Amino acid sequence: MDVFTDLESEVRSYCRSWPTVFDQAKGSRLHGEDGTAYLDFFAGAGALNYGHNHPHLKAALLEYIERDGVVHSLDMSTVAKRRFLERFDEVVLTPRGLDYKVQFPGPTGTNAVEAALKLARKVTGREHVLSFTNAFHGMTLGSLAVTGNSMKRGGAGVPLGHTSAMPYCGYMGDADSLDFLDRMIGDDGSGVDHPAAVIVETTQGEGGLQTASDLWLAGLAAICAEHGVLLIVDDVQMGCGRTGPFLSFERAGITPDIVCMSKSISGYGLPMALTLLRRELDVWDPGEHNGTFRGHNPAFVTGAAALDLWEDGTLELSIAAKAQTMSRRLSTIAGLHTDAGVQVRGRGLIQGLVFDDPDQAGAMCRAAYERGLLMETSGPSSEVAKLMPPITIDEAELDEGLDIVEQAAEAVLGTALTGTR
Ligand code: PMP
Repeated sequence: MDVFTDLESEVRSYCRSWPTVFDQAKGSRLHGEDGTAYLDFFAGAGALNYGHNHPHLKAALLEYIERDGVVHSLDMSTVAKRRFLERFDEVVLTPRGLDYKVQFPGPTGTNAVEAALKLARKVTGREHVLSFTNAFHGMTLGSLAVTGNSMKRGGAGVPLGHTSAMPYCGYMGDADSLDFLDRMIGDDGSGVDHPAAVIVETTQGEGGLQTASDLWLAGLAAICAEHGVLLIVDDVQMGCGRTGPFLSFERAGITPDIVCMSKSISGYGLPMALTLLRRELDVWDPGEHNGTFRGHNPAFVTGAAALDLWEDGTLELSIAAKAQTMSRRLSTIAGLHTDAGVQVRGRGLIQGLVFDDPDQAGAMCRAAYERGLLMETSGPSSEVAKLMPPITIDEAELDEGLDIVEQAAEAVLGTALTGTR
């Protein structure tokens, strides 16, 4: 028995799927301590959109540490925080005409969500929040209450209340889920208390890669506006370019009232989160929502450096090109296996193969691991084999990984594929 199985809690999970002790990592590759290299189509569950140890970010971090820059400072003003805020304004907010204020909650995605939920309740004076089927918003109690997965919800150990789940885009087949939502909010007889907010992911990263159409998101924003309900977009996983644009909701032409970001916002895998709020919603009293690790300066330094990568527009274009390659090759694999119900889901550089039999999605991820590729499953029954490489991956590495995906599909589904390149 090694120290992990002896000492680390049974709650551990990824290390069970990938029984390797990892040591070094660079770009799109991770290395085990025995020297085995793995292509990373997991990308820290979205925390490593720019890959591992990106040289531009690493140089900024090393320089900061070398000059004894302040590491920990709660929410005191620091040079590193000023630089991050200025760059975030210049690169993200101003070009998009967004007038958000920036709150630094604790450093994880669920902290950003908890802050958003509390603020929406405080601003409106209402308790109820609407979420969507198969949503995932985090493991703390407020976030769990707006999360769909029954296994995760069961872990709460207390009733999860003050929320109702509504059907996500496409959940009801051809029936109009927005029409249903509109009636549940607007009808005094619906039994649903008038909500403070609706919280939504543009693509459900953990819930199975269902993607809301731009039209659906625009319709959702209109319903929220009509009923005086705040719209919260949880961009923790889809933000920072995962689906192409820096903010995943940009293409739908909507301006959410509140936006949650974390995972890749530091760009380097360092913990950091933001809750963006429309300026008029900033009704917090000083210190009303706090936390020891709000604003970790090394994360501000790498987060500011990461924004440099967005300035000339080439990153966004390259994501679109690589997403097309991924979609084309996955569609070919799916097309050969319609008998097994294989379909492609997702958008940008988060796409996956959906299986009728969830065991096949798990088997595919295992087969990929045996061939040197890390990828995980997603969905309520883990029925989706999910591909999420760094958005900075080069075309050759992307093709190398997709070759392994193809071989893994071949191994699990038992058909010789002709090569989808
Ligand atoms: N929201 C979304 C959309 C997520 O994907 C996640 C994490 N998978 C979270 C919130 C929670 O983030 P964290 O694990 O950092 O608390």
